[in-house]
Amino acid sequence: MAHETRPSPIAPSVDFDRDGIQHGHLRLPHSRDDSAWGSVMIPICVVKNGAGPTALLTGANHGDEYEGPLALFDLARRLDPKDVSGTVIIVPAMNYPAFRAGTRTSPIDKGNLNRAFPGRPDGTVTQKIADYFQRELLPRADLVLDFHSGGRTLDFLPWCAAHVLSDKTQEKASFDAVEAFAAPWSVKMLEIDTVGMYDTAAEEMGKIFVTTELGGGGTSTAASVRIARRGVANVLRHAGILAGEIEKAETTWLDMPDGCFCFAEADGLIETMVDLGEPVEAGQVVARIHPVGGTGFAPQEIRSGLSGLLAARHFPGLVQAGDCVSVMAVRLD
Ligand SMILES: [Zn+2]
Repeated sequence: MAHETRPSPIAPSVDFDRDGIQHGHLRLPHSRDDSAWGSVMIPICVVKNGAGPTALLTGANHGDEYEGPLALFDLARRLDPKDVSGTVIIVPAMNYPAFRAGTRTSPIDKGNLNRAFPGRPDGTVTQKIADYFQRELLPRADLVLDFHSGGRTLDFLPWCAAHVLSDKTQEKASFDAVEAFAAPWSVKMLEIDTVGMYDTAAEEMGKIFVTTELGGGGTSTAASVRIARRGVANVLRHAGILAGEIEKAETTWLDMPDGCFCFAEADGLIETMVDLGEPVEAGQVVARIHPVGGTGFAPQEIRSGLSGLLAARHFPGLVQAGDCVSVMAVRLD
């Protein structure tokens, strides 16, 4: 059987067509040393009230990013079907093994879920999760909100984002949802490499796709979680799925032009010369990487390729050649 036609091994304990609220699991069989007939149990909540659009809300696509799980476990606890028109599907921790391990990738297969799409029903655990979203959950959705932040190795200005798309109607609907999210920063986001991303899978199906980068460093803050909670409610209200008024907040739009990413060309200890949100000029040194093998060596200077502001940076002190160390963005206003 070709893998594209093989059924998914994942069994949901929820009925996506039933009205009301259901708390259940996506059960993924996973035979292993400590459980011969065991499973990975991915929490899922479905809230449905009659006809209407469907929103698919996800966190912990990367396991060490916490604003999404915090906002979505909370939403699943508090959402009342009476306030919903349509369907809300909530998966607070998409790459559940990675989330439980507190790591970006899965401890089972080292799979990076956001590079595993479209996945395989007969592949690794991570590929099976991707395949289930690709063939079962994404087709149900009109709107997809996928929470990210920097994880252990990056730190971002708190932003909500969508991508520049060839379909301008789809692009406008996505940017409108970003505006509704009302993070302090809203971004027309450029990716380093789109192959295998959940974002790309959703966008290629024509879905409204919204993502975030809400901080990082492998933790969350009171402010970043407040932004996430307000944002998800606002996006659902904007889509007409959740009753109530959008809670407005000021947002500043940013673009990420070509040349916005800076990469380390040597290993060492990074010293940021600019903090997040501070202005930078083209050619300005935004970080220095100090060699740590001995004394007397000059640092490698990381210079911004454009004038704008520092939007993201590498988080911990030590970096390796090839690491993305600084990301610049340009105000659109
Ligand atoms: Zn992420």
